[in-house]
Amino acid sequence: MTFGRFFLLLLLALGGFVYAVWRGHVDVPPEWNPWAPLDIREAPNLLTSYKLRRLQESRELCEQALTTSDLKYVAVPDSTPQAGCPVENAVRVTGSAVRFNSPWLATCPLAAAYAMFERHGLQPAAQQVFGQPVARIDHFGSFACRNIARSNRRSQHASANALDLAGFRLQDGTRITVARDWNGDDDKARFLRLVKAAACDAFKITLSPEYNAAHHDHFHVDMGGFGMCR
Ligand SMILES: [Zn+2]
Repeated sequence: MTFGRFFLLLLLALGGFVYAVWRGHVDVPPEWNPWAPLDIREAPNLLTSYKLRRLQESRELCEQALTTSDLKYVAVPDSTPQAGCPVENAVRVTGSAVRFNSPWLATCPLAAAYAMFERHGLQPAAQQVFGQPVARIDHFGSFACRNIARSNRRSQHASANALDLAGFRLQDGTRITVARDWNGDDDKARFLRLVKAAACDAFKITLSPEYNAAHHDHFHVDMGGFGMCR
């Protein structure tokens, strides 16, 4: 058999398999079925970012995914809170396994990615370094109708597709902030480095103090564009 023929057969077999999964003729575990809704309790895998992106297309899919998370939220009708900055398929996150300094508006993919981050990245990091969970997160906000600083491109904040994480409080009250603790060599700095790595896994874009001075006091995370971890 020539290589070309072999390749064609392989493609056909693969196509047949994908079709069978789609039609439900072949049982694959839901976490490996691209058409099954995202289950936030499952560890992330290669399909997670595809499933997160799909959430923006449908409120129903979004609802299915978020009900598998610890998030407390209310759905927000599509609207344009400020001229030029429409917000679609969004929720207002009021709490989770952690408390927040204030509720935050988020596109569904951002809220779901945050829930994955908290469960599979943030809390394991806190357990690993401090042997206790994070109880509260202080953020600098999500929605802001503006451009990226010194550019004429819209920020992901303009569509509530970005969140700025500034500090973490542990169950025993210990406070860790990006501004004060990033440049250390103690447990707090080690924890923040683990949190940044976890954010890079969960979100499309993560910008830390290493990126530029504008980010000296927070981690910017968003679900726009291509991957970036700085
Ligand atoms: Zn930001």
